[in-house]
Amino acid sequence: MDRVLTGDRPTGPLHLGHYFGTLHNRVRLQAAGAALTLVIADYQVLTDSDAAGRLAPVVEGLVLDYLAAGIDPEKTTVFTHSAVPALNQLLLPFLSLVSVPELERNPTVKDEIVHSRRASVSGLMFTYPVHQAADILFGKATLVPVGQDQLPHLELTRTIARRFTERYGPLFDQPEGLLSAAPLLLGTDGGKMSKSRGNAIPLAATADVTARLIRGAKTDADRHITFDPQGRPEVSNLVLIAALCTGRAPEAVAAEIGTAGAAGLKKLVTDAVNEYFAPIRARRAEYARDPGVVRAILRSGNARANAVADATLAEVRTAMGMAY
Ligand code: ATP
Ligand code: MG
Repeated sequence: MDRVLTGDRPTGPLHLGHYFGTLHNRVRLQAAGAALTLVIADYQVLTDSDAAGRLAPVVEGLVLDYLAAGIDPEKTTVFTHSAVPALNQLLLPFLSLVSVPELERNPTVKDEIVHSRRASVSGLMFTYPVHQAADILFGKATLVPVGQDQLPHLELTRTIARRFTERYGPLFDQPEGLLSAAPLLLGTDGGKMSKSRGNAIPLAATADVTARLIRGAKTDADRHITFDPQGRPEVSNLVLIAALCTGRAPEAVAAEIGTAGAAGLKKLVTDAVNEYFAPIRARRAEYARDPGVVRAILRSGNARANAVADATLAEVRTAMGMAY
């Protein structure tokens, strides 16, 4: 059975891109009996913002999103990586295994630098993918359900695992990525839906907010709705969202809308999203009533993650001849 590791940056509430890009796959793998670990990558918020100090409510919100979507903390470990020192120490040997040009040419890092609009780029931004390798390898994960933007990072994790083996002996397997049917959901502005780009439809949005956000989504002037992701990315993205929520083929959804135009499309998408997420939103509100639940989940998840990370770091130090 696979050991699965994946996670999110606590930069805001989870959105439809997370749900259909990875969260749904996580819940499916959990149901199939895989050992699942979710990292809340709180240090990685600092790559492009100075949000430290305001993190706790966002972290708690992420845990609520997980629970609402069907993550079961009895089966799945949820932890914050800042609370796991041995995981973070893996960063040092791992950094020695990659070159600066390799870090500089990572396309996802380049994209995030553009969107961060900061005067200068922090060192943490460049080491982001290496830190992510520590997140993935500390528990020797074999499968990583991610969105498409994470594939360059995962490739670097595979490189680090391979180079570690070449230099110090076999300890880490090269993990595989797992993409979903929606590896790159677009936001309301036509770019990648992202928590920190103001273009997201949150899982936990109310029905009214969902309607408003979808009403504002970019479309095109052709009233005849088709599913053509290359030629009509924005329209096709909305069709895909409706298809995912209703379990139908996107082509069938587009055919049903026919010539009802963007307004018809948006109405159908809004209804589909609100119907699909109503029980998830209700569950989230239920969990949110007792803040103690989330804190207990993180406490036990962090304890479990520390035990695993301590054991792996001990193996790493032995492999490197540093077990004094
Ligand atoms: P941020 O803007 O802070 O980077 P984000 O929305 O990109 O936030 P992350 O926490 O960086 O979210 O990503 C968490 C996981 O969700 C990753 O596996 C990522 O690939 C996936 N993911 C994020 N956005 C999308 C999307 N639009 N479509 C599909 N998967 C996505
Ligand atoms: Mg991101």
